[in-house]
Amino acid sequence: MDLSNLIIEALGLQDVVIEKVEKDHQELSLRLVVRQQKEKCRCHQCGSPILYVHEWKERMIKGPPLGAFLYVTVTLYQLRGTCHICDGSVKSAKVPFVHPRFENMSLALCELAGRLMEEMPCAAVARFLKLNSKTIWALDQTRMKMMKPLMKLPENIDLSKMSADEVHFRTMPKLDSITKPEIKFVTNLVCFQEGKILSNAPGRSGGSLLKCLKVLSPEQRASIRLFAVDMHEPFIFTIKKLCPNAKICVDRFHLAERVNETFDELRKAEFKKAKDSNDSFQLGMLSPHRRFVLVEREKKLKKGDLKMLDKLKELNKNILNGMILVEHFHRMLDKIDVIEFRKSLMLWYGLVRESGLVPFRKLAKLIRKYRGYIEAYIDSRLTTAKSEGLNNKIKVLRRSGYGYTNQDSYLNKILQRCGYLNSKYINTASWFWGLAEGLA
Ligand SMILES: [Zn+2]
Repeated sequence: MDLSNLIIEALGLQDVVIEKVEKDHQELSLRLVVRQQKEKCRCHQCGSPILYVHEWKERMIKGPPLGAFLYVTVTLYQLRGTCHICDGSVKSAKVPFVHPRFENMSLALCELAGRLMEEMPCAAVARFLKLNSKTIWALDQTRMKMMKPLMKLPENIDLSKMSADEVHFRTMPKLDSITKPEIKFVTNLVCFQEGKILSNAPGRSGGSLLKCLKVLSPEQRASIRLFAVDMHEPFIFTIKKLCPNAKICVDRFHLAERVNETFDELRKAEFKKAKDSNDSFQLGMLSPHRRFVLVEREKKLKKGDLKMLDKLKELNKNILNGMILVEHFHRMLDKIDVIEFRKSLMLWYGLVRESGLVPFRKLAKLIRKYRGYIEAYIDSRLTTAKSEGLNNKIKVLRRSGYGYTNQDSYLNKILQRCGYLNSKYINTASWFWGLAEGLA
């Protein structure tokens, strides 16, 4: 067996002859000098054979790791010669194993980096492959765009339980000091059975969800039995229109989000008061970075945090009341019987009224309006662990790497990490050796 051919193939190279090999065990590097095989060279423009050698152009190309040699560079002598089809002018021979957009990287290295990017942060991939992280990022983007048209949902996917989740995309820079900064969102369509995001779209309007749902056939949409959403009228309207058999429910995950937001509104107001009265203890306890301690359910808290919390509750009646309302709210959602839930809800309404806290009165109004959908959730026993897990994953991917200013990149990255836009579901094996014409 010819081992040099095996090396050529393992590195994703084609139609070349190895002329020299240099190894460095300290640097774990391997340098190959290769030359294109003249008789196999084709004009890069017209594809016809090249007749006469004009010159050999030297190019440096990075290859994928070869066993322990993690850093492989290839010095390629590329043929330039006369092409009789292109008026006898001098043309370069095609190099089918180099990425058309990343001309100093072999396709095999690009595909390896791309696969790593499906699971790892940009900085990690850049370090392992000794590549520039901006290059890796651009490569990942290009690869996702190439994969997008090939993406399809698995056959026989169980779509009986779905959810629509909006996630934060970016807060636009403030235009002036008066207007509030614009916050942009992205809507994701989640399949509960698979625990995956099937599709997504910019914004959080009815139209956003409509776009998401359009990836499903009318039959698939009709098979949806339960649809979990936030208390968001445009979503509810769209579901009613497009999913004739879906029972709408406002699930725990979205309710918990709302009650946390409500408490945070209260915290901000109390923080402002503490600032005005220069109360350093309360300022510390109510500062934004501690907001999660305040809404965490008590059994999950550390001892030290609990002590401090007790002191705060003694000092600040509004915070104490707010915390009681949050805790009662969670207990209410623990109910598994609609009658029990209703009793508990009536009690909660009463507590809200007594507390006089405006943010909670606003929430109570919302709950009153959507009570039917919340009861549908209590009845459905839907667990939202997967939704929460996916949202955490999205938060992580947003924080790692560059942050996303480009909407399409963000949408694709979500589908790659949480959906079907990756090599587990799209076969890209051949991309180690070649890309179909016009793909990149
Ligand atoms: Zn030609």
